[in-house]
Amino acid sequence: MDRERGRTYFYIVALFSMGILIYSFYILYNSLTSYQEGQTENLYIGIVVAIIGIGLAFSSLTTLRKRAIMLKEMEKKVLAVEFCDKCSFKKVRLFEKGDYVNKKIGKCTQCNSELSINAIYLEDKKEPDKSPQRVSTSQPSSLTITVCSA
Ligand SMILES: [Zn+2]
Repeated sequence: MDRERGRTYFYIVALFSMGILIYSFYILYNSLTSYQEGQTENLYIGIVVAIIGIGLAFSSLTTLRKRAIMLKEMEKKVLAVEFCDKCSFKKVRLFEKGDYVNKKIGKCTQCNSELSINAIYLEDKKEPDKSPQRVSTSQPSSLTITVCSA
């Protein structure tokens, strides 16, 4: 599912849930009105239908909220920068399990000098011009989880 379609789906479900919610309250209001007019049978049916409707609307809104948070997280990637101190060769790649800042990762392809990880940061697609935000390397497990879900 691409981003635009995901967003459209999000709005449709949100509208639908709101519709169910409003309709449930409308049924509840109607049955209460008919109860005041002496029709007790309608009250019970109305209450049951309204409770089911409200429950449905709330559960789908909760699911939607979780999905929205998940989609937001999935858009982000943890990146690692490979850097050579000698010739300033720089390569940005996806964070891999076991990566940490200053980790030696082998020879530089340009000058055969030592290549090491210079920075690890969380990619932010909305603000590509801002300087990369450094991620604490003391919590590698949480970084790994983010990569796996992407
Ligand atoms: Zn180099």
